[in-house]
Amino acid sequence: MTTQPSAFAQHSALSTQHFLSHSSKIFIAGHRGMVGSAIVRLLQAKGYHNLLLKTREELDLTNQSEVHSFLAEEKPDYIFLAAAKVGGIHANNTFRADFIYENLVIETNIIHGAWKAGVNRLLFLGSSCIYPRDCPQPIREEYLLTGPLEQTNEPYAIAKIAGIKLCESYNRQYGTQYVSVMPTNLYGPNDNYDLLGSHVLPALIRKAHEAKLQGEKSLTVWGTGKPKREFLYVDDMAEACIFLMESGVTEGLFNVGTGYDVTIQELAETVMQVVGFQGTLTFDTSRPDGTPRKLLDVTSMKALGWQAKTTLQNGIAKAYADFLTNQP
Ligand code: GDP
Repeated sequence: MTTQPSAFAQHSALSTQHFLSHSSKIFIAGHRGMVGSAIVRLLQAKGYHNLLLKTREELDLTNQSEVHSFLAEEKPDYIFLAAAKVGGIHANNTFRADFIYENLVIETNIIHGAWKAGVNRLLFLGSSCIYPRDCPQPIREEYLLTGPLEQTNEPYAIAKIAGIKLCESYNRQYGTQYVSVMPTNLYGPNDNYDLLGSHVLPALIRKAHEAKLQGEKSLTVWGTGKPKREFLYVDDMAEACIFLMESGVTEGLFNVGTGYDVTIQELAETVMQVVGFQGTLTFDTSRPDGTPRKLLDVTSMKALGWQAKTTLQNGIAKAYADFLTNQP
């Protein structure tokens, strides 16, 4: 256990020991979500067969006694905490109370319940919006809590920071091995394509597709198109999560991204190209831009031996194929 004031990505925490076997009992909280479902797909493909999956109807993660009883009874060997209330800039900015409350309550229920049940290993999924709005780029893990947050998603970010601090605190006080990962903007199968609730990439896929079908001349992009964002295909994220689980990393905070970003305008142009919509772009500047840039420094994951594989163009093509198959 570290004696440092904070447990950022520390390579000294890497053990060569593999704690888990294919029969280990693994609980994936949030297995119907975009990240949780990608983790399940990859765990199954890798031969992990003892997966604990509970729908919202079977287990209400916001109910403390239900969660604590479930964990005490099942005693999983490992937990992926991928359950969260998530959304794009409009949803975060509008449903501020829901975003802070639901995320805090899910995290505290699962992390405290895990400790009480003697579950020693857990991976907590956060978000790159935890970092200060105007911090240097690319963003290193140690910039956490060094400045004010972006206002449009501050309640969500505060809840995710609390999750990191829960993991760190239980590790320090009780010797658990809870690790945090901070993904950049994710996209892929099982994404949310609701135009008001979603993030930018699924929104643009849907807008470009509908504009193509309806023979429109223009596609509306929120904001100025100038902010920069980094996008990671969700299967790469799942791979990073399972890589960390298998590596025997016991603590710390790890950024997960591709290491490069694009402007929202460049993103919109790439989406239009993949979808085959040949119109123009209109910028609705009555909508907020949000944070100007949030490119993650991915040196820590690279040093451990992990790197993203999917290019933006290929990832968008796969996401669009999934949209065509699965979206009504
Ligand atoms: P953020 O990364 O937390 O800001 O969340 P989003 O993915 O929702 O938005 C990223 C950027 O894309 C912001 O600058 C948005 O204004 C911009 N954007 C452009 N068009 C859209 C859209 O149709 N939907 C969303 N959600 N964002 C858009």
